Amino acid sequence: MIDTHMHADSRSSEDFDKMFISGIDTAITCSYYPYKLNNNPEILLNHFDRILNFEPKRAKTYGLELKVALGIHPANTITNNEKIFERLEKLIENKDIIAIGEIGLDSNTLKEQELFKKQLELAEKTKTKVIIHTPRKNKLEVLKDIKKIVLENIDSKLVVIDHINLSTINELIDEDITIGLTVQPQKMEVEEAIRILDDYGFDKFLLNSDISNKPSDPLSVPKTVRTLKRLGYDEKEINKVAFENAKKFFNI
Ligand SMILES: [Zn+2]
Repeated sequence: MIDTHMHADSRSSEDFDKMFISGIDTAITCSYYPYKLNNNPEILLNHFDRILNFEPKRAKTYGLELKVALGIHPANTITNNEKIFERLEKLIENKDIIAIGEIGLDSNTLKEQELFKKQLELAEKTKTKVIIHTPRKNKLEVLKDIKKIVLENIDSKLVVIDHINLSTINELIDEDITIGLTVQPQKMEVEEAIRILDDYGFDKFLLNSDISNKPSDPLSVPKTVRTLKRLGYDEKEINKVAFENAKKFFNI
């Protein structure tokens, strides 16, 4: 299985162990700094270095392969960002990261929108995949703005929009955009994810846990995949959301 969105730097080694033992071979770890940046780019660059240079080694000790996505999360919106963009360009050029992420809108301020657009432009220019966050609050309203900005600034085939649920799925299902289902306590239970797959088919979706410093379940992807199996869904369909769609989308 592939868990397509997590935050390894805020999780324990025991989680990596459990994930690997439960059948997750690969996970994509994204940047998000949970503390204050004080508009200091060095703090975010250090955060990037930790994710790139320490977490994949730590996870590999337990068998889990980590792929890295880096970008400026909307909660880390920073105006002093030239150095960060320079670093991102280098990392893309050297193929050190497989996507820009997670980025997006959270409080949906003008500053967040500007930074979001700038990162989409970089992704479009370099043909890099993008992992996009949608917020817990005002989800549908903010998703509409995210969709508009995506369609105006980037080839939608490069994009996965994450944390989609039953209340927001209709806004995206007719677009040529990959959809991330985040199965996580307080966000979406296994049953809701399965209802979405049952209603809309398995082709457009990726699964993830988004385990972070917030309430999380490192086994939410295997729990979803094994529940699909127990309920008798077709093995070929299950494999699409377990790993095939993610392999194809991220080219891993
Ligand atoms: Zn996340």
